[in-house]
Amino acid sequence: MQYFLDVILPIRIERTFTYKITSEEAAALQKGMRVAVPFGKSKIYTAIAFHVHQNPPTAYEAKEIHEILDSHPVLVPTQIKFWQWIADYYMCTLGEVVRAGLPNALLLESETLILPKVLDKVPEGEFTDDEFLIVEALRHQSSLQIKDVADITDRKRVLPLINGLVEKGVVRLKEEIHEKYRPKTVKYIRLNPEYESETALQNLLETLTRAPKQSQAVLSYFSIYGQQKKPVGLTDFEKTSRISKSVIKALIEKSVFEAYELQTDRVVYEEGERKVRDIQLNPLQTKAIGDIQESFEKPRVCLLHGVTSSGKTEVYIKLIKKVIDSGKQVLYLLPEIALTTQLINRLKAYFGNTIAVYHSRYSYNERIEVWNNVLHQSEKAQVILGARSALFLPFSKLGLVVVDEEHEQSYKQFDPAPRYHARDAAIVLANLHGANCLLGSATPSIESYYNVKKGKYGIAEIPRRYGEVLMPEIELVDIKEAHRKKRMKGHFSERLLKAMETALEENEQIILFQNRRGFAPILECTTCGHAAQCPNCDVSLTLHQHREQLRCHYCGFHIPILQSCQACGSSTLDTKGFGTEQIQEELKHLFPDAKVGRMDLDTTRGKYSYDKLINAFEAQELDILVGTQMITKGLDFRNVGLVGIMNADSLLNFPDYRAHERSFQLLVQVAGRSGRTQKRGNVLVQTYNPYHQVLQQVSSYDYPKFFHDQVYEREQFKYPPGTKILRITLKDRDYNKLNEASDWFATSLRNVLKCTVLGPEYPAISRIRNQYLKNILIKFTTAEPVAKTKKSIKRVNQSFDAISNYRSVRVVYNVDHI
Ligand code: ADP
Ligand code: ZN
Ligand code: ZN
Repeated sequence: MQYFLDVILPIRIERTFTYKITSEEAAALQKGMRVAVPFGKSKIYTAIAFHVHQNPPTAYEAKEIHEILDSHPVLVPTQIKFWQWIADYYMCTLGEVVRAGLPNALLLESETLILPKVLDKVPEGEFTDDEFLIVEALRHQSSLQIKDVADITDRKRVLPLINGLVEKGVVRLKEEIHEKYRPKTVKYIRLNPEYESETALQNLLETLTRAPKQSQAVLSYFSIYGQQKKPVGLTDFEKTSRISKSVIKALIEKSVFEAYELQTDRVVYEEGERKVRDIQLNPLQTKAIGDIQESFEKPRVCLLHGVTSSGKTEVYIKLIKKVIDSGKQVLYLLPEIALTTQLINRLKAYFGNTIAVYHSRYSYNERIEVWNNVLHQSEKAQVILGARSALFLPFSKLGLVVVDEEHEQSYKQFDPAPRYHARDAAIVLANLHGANCLLGSATPSIESYYNVKKGKYGIAEIPRRYGEVLMPEIELVDIKEAHRKKRMKGHFSERLLKAMETALEENEQIILFQNRRGFAPILECTTCGHAAQCPNCDVSLTLHQHREQLRCHYCGFHIPILQSCQACGSSTLDTKGFGTEQIQEELKHLFPDAKVGRMDLDTTRGKYSYDKLINAFEAQELDILVGTQMITKGLDFRNVGLVGIMNADSLLNFPDYRAHERSFQLLVQVAGRSGRTQKRGNVLVQTYNPYHQVLQQVSSYDYPKFFHDQVYEREQFKYPPGTKILRITLKDRDYNKLNEASDWFATSLRNVLKCTVLGPEYPAISRIRNQYLKNILIKFTTAEPVAKTKKSIKRVNQSFDAISNYRSVRVVYNVDHI
């Protein structure tokens, strides 16, 4: 009887792929195990076993699998269901979810290696130019990969070329699978079981009388093993018994001792440093817990709306404790950037080694370890603290998911697929496990609050800060007036400077926020108005004074600072707008004695640079911290007395239907970094338009009014949360082809869909990395289920793919969050 296996390949193909397997393999295979399979001409992939059956595929001849890579599944059934939901809902393939979900190290890689065989087999003159290049390269390197060959020859399709050389017997191919992950192991020794009986041992010791050191070693082993009653580590043994390596080695060679290895876990936290405080919740926190638990009884989702520094984290901790005490797992999600040692340490103080951290900045091996700990429901992974990718872990008894800072836009993954939103996916994950989900924020997203209003989520509130600390006072500073009266020093109003002086005198720290990095976003010629543009993207180059460069923030293109205008040649170049670097520069002159730090993408690239800056600020080694959004993310600084927003207008005027929501959240969050202890904090917001409704709502902390206005506006224009949307982006390097293709796509959609199709339209930035972009916007109607509409769209996409002329055009789906 012939058996077949359907597998999920970690690539962008719509369906599972079928392979031939033996009956032994069929018996051994379980859903969720990894198998190595050949695919295409010469590729080997790691695929996930999905389904064993006996129906041969009709469209192709099934190949045999190479091998089964696991003895037990590395994925669990609920997880696979969850991944399938992600693929369906976010309109990508299951393979793309596998690629994103499984740690890279578990996805074995196949690299076709090209090795020299007999390079001189063919006289040089008979090679084509390209062949000659490859042969030359192989004289200097022992092997080449496919992509090296592509680079050397500057060609994309190199397989025929390589095949030609193989046929001529000049080179040969080597398929290599690299198992990237090697679990770290420790060497142990034990006594050969032959000597377990009393008499056998007696005999052994007698034979060793001539070798007193060896007999000493055997006796030491017994005393150590007797004391610790657990495996004896080789290094430990050497140390404790003071017996030399060579003696132990001799005994191993004689088979008196046996050496073996055990896998250890690398992620070890220092025990003993735990100083568990017994936190007594205040009445507001206690009430919140009660409300949360009540809404969990369904069980369902609850939103915890608590102002900054109201003690939400303490509430999470209490709830988490309960869940792990009941033997279940907890997932605690944070936006990537907020995963600081600050919070990790705080949680470790409570949960010690039961907490594991999962984070893209962690190494392959660290991630695999957490994966395995979750898979085996180990003690070490009862609480998982992680960024969005932690959703993909193999949970099997999840009891609670906490989504902290649920409003954060960095929960949305933009590239590559799956383009999912971690908060929304977390709710689905919790649901699949019958677990509860707690969303927390001081500035809830419009969607979540809307769902509360609709009765879909429960709500708990903590309206005041812990310890009766007052909310910081937010003052709007009109800089239009100040500019007119020439009363600005650089980008600082008199009001802000004065407040800074006072704060510094009182030894308080200051945070200054500006949402752009670099020195100035534009370097413009005041004679002709020309500004230097990126040649690859449709944006101006940003001036980075310190590096003396003009840089593109989209593709990394850079040139030295220009001395004169590229268009008219005059040297009347002036900057427009300003970024964090310029603020830092101005501070040097305004406050020469102050120690100033800067936190933005440019200063936090290294693995620990972000933590270092935070630690320095926390230790008060810095007086002033200038930064972009990064400084808003849930940091808890004790000594900040003043927060300055350099310019609120650029936030509010951003061309995006969420701009007002983001401004509100950002301003309230950054304000929340100040005055977290007894003294009331101050926040100064510089703006040209202090009467802007959103700024008014920020300064009075009027969330309800803000929510009401936003929902009203969005209902007018049919945007979420009232209307579900989908953005389809088409990309191509060829401008005309893109236009034609996107017209075809939009027209076809209009023909089959019942809902509103807008576009195609160029986005604000219509070219990035030499790819032109065009958007089509779908607004779903209630007349048809969303899933059905999505299916119709996918079918249009299939017809589109069949048009050879459009083959190069990429189609990208962003569901809900654009
Ligand atoms: P949030 O997460 O809402 O911003 P935190 O949980 O960080 O607030 O709390 C702010 C500060 O107040 C922290 O330093 C925290 O340790 C302290 N805190 C909160 N609740 C309590 C409590 N019940 N007892 C003692 N300290 C508390
Ligand atoms: Zn000019
Ligand atoms: Zn660019």
